[in-house]
Amino acid sequence: MSRDYDVIVAGGGLTGLITATTIAKFTKQNKRILVIDRNDEVNPARKNISGWTCGDAVSKRSIDFYSKEVGITYESPELEHKVKGVVAFSPDRETKVSFDGEGYVLNRKLLGLRQVEDAKKLGVEFLFQTESEKLLSDNGYITGVEILDKDKNKKTLTANVVVDATGSASKLRQNLPLANSFMEKQIDRENDMETTGRYILEFDSGETDTSLYDEDYCIIHLNQDIAPGGYAWVFPKSDNKVNIGLGVQKKRLVTRNQRLGKNDTLQSLIDEYISSNTSIKNYRISSDVDDSGNTRGNWQVPVRRQNDCMVENGYVIVGDAAWLPRPIDAGGIGPGIFASVIAGKTIANALEAEDYSQNSLWNYNTEYVRNYGYQMASFEILRRFLQIVLNEKISYGMKHFLSADDVEKITSREHPSFDKVNMFNPLMLYKILTHWSLAKELRYTATKSNQLVTHSQNYPESPESFPEWQNKLHLLLNDAYSRFS
Ligand SMILES: Cc1cc2nc3c(=O)[nH]c(=O)nc-3n(C[C@H](O)[C@H](O)[C@H](O)COP(=O)(O)OP(=O)(O)OC[C@H]3O[C@@H](n4cnc5c(N)ncnc54)[C@H](O)[C@@H]3O)c2cc1C
Repeated sequence: MSRDYDVIVAGGGLTGLITATTIAKFTKQNKRILVIDRNDEVNPARKNISGWTCGDAVSKRSIDFYSKEVGITYESPELEHKVKGVVAFSPDRETKVSFDGEGYVLNRKLLGLRQVEDAKKLGVEFLFQTESEKLLSDNGYITGVEILDKDKNKKTLTANVVVDATGSASKLRQNLPLANSFMEKQIDRENDMETTGRYILEFDSGETDTSLYDEDYCIIHLNQDIAPGGYAWVFPKSDNKVNIGLGVQKKRLVTRNQRLGKNDTLQSLIDEYISSNTSIKNYRISSDVDDSGNTRGNWQVPVRRQNDCMVENGYVIVGDAAWLPRPIDAGGIGPGIFASVIAGKTIANALEAEDYSQNSLWNYNTEYVRNYGYQMASFEILRRFLQIVLNEKISYGMKHFLSADDVEKITSREHPSFDKVNMFNPLMLYKILTHWSLAKELRYTATKSNQLVTHSQNYPESPESFPEWQNKLHLLLNDAYSRFS
């Protein structure tokens, strides 16, 4: 059946633009690929009215992957500042864990402009100031989208494949009009969504203290009083410019306020966090023209494993719409880049084969989960555990229970094995016995992690075996959910 487009990508943010560009790059004949974004053309990829709200940190590995696979290499000015790694501080700031590995702090506003330029060079078409309202379906397939154009007229556009890259608030996936879909429509907002916010500020240098500001490292502060159920961050953009903010889990903010007899909100926590930083003096909103319209914003990030199934007949989800950010640190740019490239190549193959079925698109699920997404369920469990642990125990655990091997594992994005928390280690016996419940639960997360990683690496090759695989996954997860509820 003839369609208006071969592919429609709803949402021209970071991941929608990479997916569209990758499809265009890997289709042999000229195919019509359309990106629909609600922003105007001079503000592409903006998440919401308050800007491109993000911590902006990404590993060099992710940027290099895109360059190697698709031939597009980001550079300055969209790669705004280079860093040597990330340092996470314990609540008492006495222990730091450095995750070395080069990375960048991006300028997301400039990156969006660069991405649109790259996509257009490969023939991708754009409809700006256009809202994707809902998915169209026919005979078990997604066949297009209903849009609201810039003059607020409702229209329908058809395509062989629709990619949903509309971010964490995706209304397309939530209202997926297919019966008996494997794709999960809703996230558990109470447990798996973080509320976050940040500023981009200029400042004068204050006290020299690399636990508070370091031009060479992205700093993370773990602290249940400052950022309950989440963490706070200080990511450098230069020697006098910073991306600074924090994220919380809403229900942990409520219990933290009850515990401390306070009435804080996300905004008051962010403002207090900034004003208490003695390395950042005389701070003010960035006056850099490249930050205009992007200096202050709040938004939400999903922090669970990716959607168990990311494809349907004629339909693919990527980025935050597929819940890709890492559960442990809410980093969604790296996973988003890997997934968008795999999704783009898979869709390009489906176009060549003229087969848009779930079966034909399934490779995206398998390749992404087996190579990148396999640790996410295990990080989801570690995150759920850490969210219920108070500051004193986190500081103690980071000081005494993390081994060099654990840090190396975390650096390479694997789950730590917490081998130090072993009853047969006489040197550790006293520490384990005095912090028994912490030691026991860390061991539990490590054992559970092994099971979840192994299970995820066996993600099914085709849709037929998916229900059985998913049942087992949920059995493994439910046991941990009830333990850490
Ligand atoms: C405060 C904060 C800090 C973060 N820090 C980091 C970090 O330091 N490192 C990291 O790796 N990740 C971080 N993340 C996560 C990261 O920003 C996201 O994972 C990433 O932006 C996801 O890209 P996306 O393209 O999927 O979605 P988005 O960036 O949200 O893009 C979605 C696009 O779709 C458009 N859109 C939405 N709905 C519609 C519609 N109905 N019709 C048309 N267009 C629509 C939007 O306007 C936007 O252009 C952070 C997130 C937040 C909120």
